[in-house]
Amino acid sequence: MQTITSSNQAIALEDKYGAHNYHPLPVVLAKGEGVFLWDVEGKRYYDFLSAYSAVNQGHCHPRIKDALIEQASTLTLTSRAFHNDVLGPFEKYITEYFGFDKVLPMNTGAEGVETAIKIARKWGYEKKGVDENQAKIIVAENNFHGRTTTIISFSNDENARRNFGPYTAGFIKIPYDDVDALKEALSDPDVVAFLVEPIQGEAGVYVPSDDYIKQAKAACEAKNVLLIADEIQTGIARTGSLLAVCGNCTCEKSCEKQATYTKPDMLILGKAISGGFYPVSAVLADDHIMGVIKPGQHGSTFGGNPLGAKVAMAALEVVSDENLAQNARKLGELFRVRMQKLVDRYTIVKLVRGKGLLNAVVVNDTEESSTAWDICVALKDNGLLAKPTHGNIIRFAPPLVMTEEQLHECCDIIEKTIAAFEK
Ligand SMILES: *Cc1c(COP(=O)(O)O)cnc(C)c1O
Repeated sequence: MQTITSSNQAIALEDKYGAHNYHPLPVVLAKGEGVFLWDVEGKRYYDFLSAYSAVNQGHCHPRIKDALIEQASTLTLTSRAFHNDVLGPFEKYITEYFGFDKVLPMNTGAEGVETAIKIARKWGYEKKGVDENQAKIIVAENNFHGRTTTIISFSNDENARRNFGPYTAGFIKIPYDDVDALKEALSDPDVVAFLVEPIQGEAGVYVPSDDYIKQAKAACEAKNVLLIADEIQTGIARTGSLLAVCGNCTCEKSCEKQATYTKPDMLILGKAISGGFYPVSAVLADDHIMGVIKPGQHGSTFGGNPLGAKVAMAALEVVSDENLAQNARKLGELFRVRMQKLVDRYTIVKLVRGKGLLNAVVVNDTEESSTAWDICVALKDNGLLAKPTHGNIIRFAPPLVMTEEQLHECCDIIEKTIAAFEK
């Protein structure tokens, strides 16, 4: 392997040999620890993306690393043709952790979404009595659920869709955070599920009305339709509670005791479920739903492998043992207070929104402008890494292990950067 000695050299290699399916900021990272990243030249940055919320526990968390190394030296993959001695304990752990009867483990988030879609359709035919091939799933406008052909079929991001057709049928798109539109769509008896992000992350961190998910669940229940929560980005303490569907509760286990909690019929998790060490995703549901899946009907060579299972258990232990939900809640409030001051003072930023440590600042320019990108490049030069989600929106999502002092230092960096753009 060629040794990388400069960022430019690494970028040139990617440009020449890699498909151009991403447009990264011009920084080449070589090391990570906790809330920090270092580039090839040794410059240190605060990470405000957390690999799209996959490293909520911070980079290279020692407890997760130890679990990975130990399991990697013992047994990594058996396939599901045989049992392995970590899968069962993992399944018990994660179902108790989130309060569901059963889990179906996969690898990437998109696979988790695909899995939930398949289960919902099968449930629709076998339990709800929908006619063959007629099942429909309601989704929200501006959703992001991944990149497979079926998932992009119900995206309304033209860049994600164009020239990838023909598209998978069977999806109804409604406006986000609109219970009336949901109720209207639910009048179709072929609807089997409503697939929704409790907060829309990729779309630009859109936080719906407080009772949106609760009302959506009630509306679905009334029509015998499954509510599927995609918490791949919002879950695992990111939004200041274990799951976004926990509402305002910060206890470290998902529970139905809290009035603010809305239990989805299916919960999709990914990203931080493994703390950034290994791709693990999961669909959780109770027996009357998960029971429709029989041997041979769904699976994945790597899904449920002992390495991923061990890593995921360690990653979830860290979330509860280090009270990451409470920390995300506390720091999130501080962050929005500090950003609101910038919004009040500078015309270049017009809005801050978010929950816990999933936040966005809206830049006062058009979606087509390069201002948000230029601000992110300047933030990088000042030692902080963030990325625009859509044109003029910058998402700020640091690892949840950040301290209050570090957060204030980061807000100082953001303020200094914004101030320099103002003139
Ligand atoms: C990232 C993400 C996905 C897709 O996960 P991948 O691991 O990239 O396939 C799906 N849904 C949401 C809400 C996400 O944020």
